Amino acid sequence: MRGLMQDWPLLAHKVIDHAARLHGAREVVTRTVEGPIVRTTYKEMRGRSLRVAKALEARGIEIGDRVGTLATNTQRHMELWYGIMGLGAVCHTVNPRLFPDQIEYIVNHAEDRILYFDVVFAPLVEKLAPRLKSVEAFVAMTDAAHLPHARIPNLVAYEDMIGAVDDDFEWKTFDENTAAGLCYTSGTTGNPKGVLYSHRSNIVHAMGVAMADVLGLTNADCTLAIVPMCHANAWGLPFLAPMVGAKLVLPGAKLDGPSICELLETEKVTMSAGVPTVWSAMLAHIEKTGVKPTTLRKITIGGSAAPRAMIETFERMGIEVRHGWGMTEMSPVGTICTMNPDMVDAPFDQRITLKMSQGRPFFGVEMKIVNDAGREQPHDGKAFGRLLVRGPAVAESYFKGELPATDADGWFETGDVATIDADGYMRITDRAKDVIKSGGEWISSIDIENIACGHPCVAEAAVIGVRHPKWEERPLLVVVLREGKQADKADILGALDGRIAKWWMPDDVVFVDDIPHTATGKIQKAALRERFKDYKLPPG
Ligand code: AMP
Repeated sequence: MRGLMQDWPLLAHKVIDHAARLHGAREVVTRTVEGPIVRTTYKEMRGRSLRVAKALEARGIEIGDRVGTLATNTQRHMELWYGIMGLGAVCHTVNPRLFPDQIEYIVNHAEDRILYFDVVFAPLVEKLAPRLKSVEAFVAMTDAAHLPHARIPNLVAYEDMIGAVDDDFEWKTFDENTAAGLCYTSGTTGNPKGVLYSHRSNIVHAMGVAMADVLGLTNADCTLAIVPMCHANAWGLPFLAPMVGAKLVLPGAKLDGPSICELLETEKVTMSAGVPTVWSAMLAHIEKTGVKPTTLRKITIGGSAAPRAMIETFERMGIEVRHGWGMTEMSPVGTICTMNPDMVDAPFDQRITLKMSQGRPFFGVEMKIVNDAGREQPHDGKAFGRLLVRGPAVAESYFKGELPATDADGWFETGDVATIDADGYMRITDRAKDVIKSGGEWISSIDIENIACGHPCVAEAAVIGVRHPKWEERPLLVVVLREGKQADKADILGALDGRIAKWWMPDDVVFVDDIPHTATGKIQKAALRERFKDYKLPPG
């Protein structure tokens, strides 16, 4: 027997309708790429999204067509994304920090028909334009006065494009499983793969992360969306903020410590989300100026493991840290660490130790760990296993992929290795391909990196496996020192002594000026392994 409730499709543009209706005057503030701070509201944003849709339809864009964006987090980018989705087209957010060859591959693979870009990326677009076969028009996300002087064919100014139409447009209605967004994974090997979100998966994910124990955003909050829209939907914030009517602040192209700290204060931000590299830049600025944020009360750190020292520093400032884990293929949030009732009043150190775990899945995410034979591993906080997930906002296949990305039971292999404890808290120990195997046992590089980062002289640390004649591989610790600080191998290893198993102790420490990162701020272990592939470990 079917239930007798309404079939109200979960469509992404209903979010901006709701926000305009219920929270119409709530502000959306942007640090524009042109420079000035610009203020708009959800009501105005909806009107401009309708114009985007009308202008796109006039250009022949139809349901299912891909429209690309090469842009930072701004109000134009957000109204564009609602406009594209409200037409039934697919908003393909391209990460401008990828290598130009990868951008070329992605745009051609997606067959984007129009490419919108921030003016700061004009030189990149000029270089790539002749190679982007499917793109019929390039739209600079600015007004005619700021149109870049670049040799880009069929170049239009965004404000001219939407200025040519009014907002008398009706959103299209279609099945909730229709594609809404496309985001390519920033894989370090092989070609990037396209994750094709549906309207339904976006809404279900946003409602999930809205829960108090996940991102927990409310009408009274002001959120700064640091994590880019091209990095897996900015972790859902451009859906979540209008859904609950939170004030939204968009930082544009400036993600450095001083710019972020300034926005936090001037806009009275209460909640924010970003990757560890952004937070460490912010902490360095706070350390330099001695000026702490006064309204910020909660941050989410994810994308890479949050170092203990970072969590501690924020918590001592009275800012609650929620460490989260997820991936592009999961829309992206999978787990978030909040305290269970037994831990709420636990001593500070114990709570920080728990917060170093990536937390628990929220409703809508199932997970398990398995060994190489596919056998499920116990949830005892000790057994390592390959992490598998499934749920309504988890990818089933990749865009144009011939095979499903899941196994016969619908489990998606994350590529991460993790432990899960009896309360369901998950700890990532490594990417499967970064795991260090020494004498047949696994060494967790993340644990070692985390402790090394707690040393006052260490700015960043990475542990990689180096070939060893007897043990197969042994860990090598690669360290970037903080500006003006000095430390040697003995100092750094001293910080690890007694805090990791003896056989996990790195065989050597090398000091470098810089550790390479991916377009989404992760350490490029493969590049480090290549660089140190012939490294001779000291005899030990
Ligand atoms: P992406 O699809 O670019 O968001 O990358 C997803 C991958 O980032 C995951 O599979 C993890 O390897 C890594 N990752 C994300 N969050 C964390 C975290 N909190 N700790 C450790 N690794 C993380």
